[in-house]
Amino acid sequence: IGEDLKNELADELCASTPGFSLLKVKEQMFYKVGLADAVDLFRTRRVFIKDGFAYVPFKEIDVIVLNNYRTKLSKALALTARSLPSIQSDERLQPLLSHLSHSYVGPDYSIQKNTGRISLEQIDALSVKSFPLCMRQLHRALRDSHHLRHGGRMQYGLFLKGIGLTLEQALEFWKKEFIRGKVDADKFDKGYAYSIRHSYGKEGKRTDYTPYSCMKIIMSNPPSQGDYHGCPFRHSDPELLKQKLQSYKIPPSGITQILELVKGMHYQLACQKYFELTHDVDDIGFSLNHPNQYFTESQKLLSGGRELKKEFNNSGNYQQKNNSQESINSAPTPTSSNATADTELEGLEAYFTED
Ligand code: SF4
Repeated sequence: IGEDLKNELADELCASTPGFSLLKVKEQMFYKVGLADAVDLFRTRRVFIKDGFAYVPFKEIDVIVLNNYRTKLSKALALTARSLPSIQSDERLQPLLSHLSHSYVGPDYSIQKNTGRISLEQIDALSVKSFPLCMRQLHRALRDSHHLRHGGRMQYGLFLKGIGLTLEQALEFWKKEFIRGKVDADKFDKGYAYSIRHSYGKEGKRTDYTPYSCMKIIMSNPPSQGDYHGCPFRHSDPELLKQKLQSYKIPPSGITQILELVKGMHYQLACQKYFELTHDVDDIGFSLNHPNQYFTESQKLLSGGRELKKEFNNSGNYQQKNNSQESINSAPTPTSSNATADTELEGLEAYFTED
């Protein structure tokens, strides 16, 4: 409602809205909604009613939206249940339907504006500050053993590409690390370099491969012994996950909350909680469904897009924020919203089979 009407009804709004003073009435927005939509608020005497309308304060509007959503959802579910038998009998629709709950329809993060703006020297610090747990785990394993098996190289390599590593940087990054282990430069150039060029669309079918979404990581190709890919919230033993979180200095109450979410199979919510705890924010402010989205949001936050009280230092401990906060800023900007079919990756995976 407009200011004029609000001023006119100020006394009534104040008297009929629990916890509201005249000053608060002036500050808050009110919505005029049909009585039928505000039955719950009306029943508990929490709104002012006049001429068949309820005057709902902003802080209560979520109840109305929720009821509306619930009603629409029930109708849609009833309709779906009725139509399902005939849809399922159509064999053209069957594969589409069974894939629907696993498909990712968000930004694909394969094209970035910040390509080349990350230096290789920044990756260690970024892995602590802005990588989700899955990528932090892969980065640590790579640094420790100077090798990753093909599942890890796929998951981590495409993530790095998504955060802005150029092909030349990717070749240098992987080569430097691998030749510190058991792979010599010649073997790297002949085997692994080809697969990296391939993932950047420079070989074979020249497909520009898309970084994996959370759904893909959680639902497919679970890690075996010696693998570090996958989602730690989904694939790690809870006791090992707990130890890992402790080593990253997550407070005990936070670990308990994360483990509760994991127990309820809410892996992405557990990851969101990890984001909140490592960035010291109360509300993550977005719905997480992609590791590159995690990185983007983290960088936005650390570069001052949102208020931040503390940040991590390199060893993973909290330290008070100072003004010389390092940031690469300009995170990838989503440019398309295609759901990449698994089949698109088949060619690439073939090139990563060598362990
Ligand atoms: Fe990575 Fe997604 Fe799992 Fe988080 S929820 S650890 S981003 S796969």
